Amino acid sequence: MEKVWVFFTENLRVRDNTVLDAAIKSGWAIIPFYLFDISLKTSTELRMRKVGPYRAKFLCESLVNLRKNLESLWSHLSILRWNSIDTIVDFATKNYIKKVYIQESVWVYEREMMESLREKLEEKNIKLYIIWDSTLVHKDDLPFAVSELPKVYTHFRKAVEKQSEIVDPLSEITEIKSPEIEPTDMLTIQDLWYDKVEIDARRAIEFIGWEDAGLERIKNYLWDTENLSSYKETRNWLIWADYSSKLSAWLNLWCISSRYVYSEVKRYEKQIKKNSSTYWLIFEILWRDFFQFVFLQDPMKFFHNYPTLDDVLKSETDKRKFEKWKSGNLKVPFVDANMKELKFTGFMSNRGRQNVASYLVNDLKLDWRLGAMYFESMLVDYDVAANWWNWAYQAWVWNDPRDNRYFLIEKQQKMYDPDGEYRKLWNT
Ligand SMILES: Cc1cc2nc3c(=O)[nH]c(=O)nc-3n(C[C@H](O)[C@H](O)[C@H](O)COP(=O)(O)OP(=O)(O)OC[C@H]3O[C@@H](n4cnc5c(N)ncnc54)[C@H](O)[C@@H]3O)c2cc1C
Repeated sequence: MEKVWVFFTENLRVRDNTVLDAAIKSGWAIIPFYLFDISLKTSTELRMRKVGPYRAKFLCESLVNLRKNLESLWSHLSILRWNSIDTIVDFATKNYIKKVYIQESVWVYEREMMESLREKLEEKNIKLYIIWDSTLVHKDDLPFAVSELPKVYTHFRKAVEKQSEIVDPLSEITEIKSPEIEPTDMLTIQDLWYDKVEIDARRAIEFIGWEDAGLERIKNYLWDTENLSSYKETRNWLIWADYSSKLSAWLNLWCISSRYVYSEVKRYEKQIKKNSSTYWLIFEILWRDFFQFVFLQDPMKFFHNYPTLDDVLKSETDKRKFEKWKSGNLKVPFVDANMKELKFTGFMSNRGRQNVASYLVNDLKLDWRLGAMYFESMLVDYDVAANWWNWAYQAWVWNDPRDNRYFLIEKQQKMYDPDGEYRKLWNT
């Protein structure tokens, strides 16, 4: 029987996975691979690790769970470690593969890689199917071309809410036809240069990188606790799991699909309650879509003149300021508490992210890209589009009309940490 490869890159799930579904529909036998780009082990231009410890742990866990879920459907998962396109093409040719399926990325480097992979595979008569599956609203269902995306989120959202269809999640897969092969070793955190990753017990939530854990989190936040009904009022809080959905890490490795989250919110609205909070979760997930499309429209915007460490940290004073910001030693308790939470857990609330970003840019007067790169390395839920555009937005280098994004820390801590509980939690 003819065989196809399915490459898992960002989409580490079996449920509602358009790429896997397309491959199954081909009717051919499926060989699933996780495509491990060895360059992920390297550091950025600012000598920070591209994938920090928390994301490394989350990624490895996601693969273990993906393998388990594929095995329960009579399939398997292997790891294809690659450092050049030719490695992949040679391997495909030797294995008589005729079709390969992969998820389309918004990331610049990945897009270039996929284009070049497509060309080289075509030379060998192998077809590469690159399939969009990154957003709630499919890019072909937008009311405008990506090149004509509105510059302001509100305009985007209103148009999408009025004119775009959000399709239902795909039906569950019951079986995958796969040939018998001996799967390779799994990826481990040692492959990403870490020995052991400890997460501080004060963490907001335990981010276990399993598709199953992401589904469990949806169940918990919506159905078990009904926290969704008060999301709009609590989303700016700072401590523990309940104030916001905490779905970002699972969404960003696509362990769960935003379509599934949307369908669960709609079911909740029918069965439990429909209010401004239930709407607001979708409102935020559409922000996520907006940033994905903004990135897709101009992927190189902030990366044309990527800075070196010497460009952005010119003086010893700047270096000291940056170190103190990173380690939470500025003696500004609200900023310090947030930075310690990030350092020891890989997560920080949205309110915290806005405050520490504003402090870096407006008070410390440091280059915003330093903050973006540090977040890239540390966040368990790092997403290139959400991170760089939120930073750009906070640093006022992006064209949104709302102009005052300076956060007065004193005022913010009075509003969001009036009793100092959060500051105490992290600073003592
Ligand atoms: C400087 C800065 C950097 C950020 N970097 C990232 C990042 O790398 N990855 C990331 O997912 N989010 C990022 N955010 C957005 C936001 O802080 C996180 O999505 C949110 O805190 C995750 O927690 P949650 O899942 O509980 O969010 P919830 O409040 O429950 O929101 C639900 C979902 O909506 C999406 N969302 C919410 N707010 C935003 C937003 N402002 N931009 C884009 N998507 C949003 C996320 O997917 C989130 O999981 C950043 C924000 C700032 C200010």
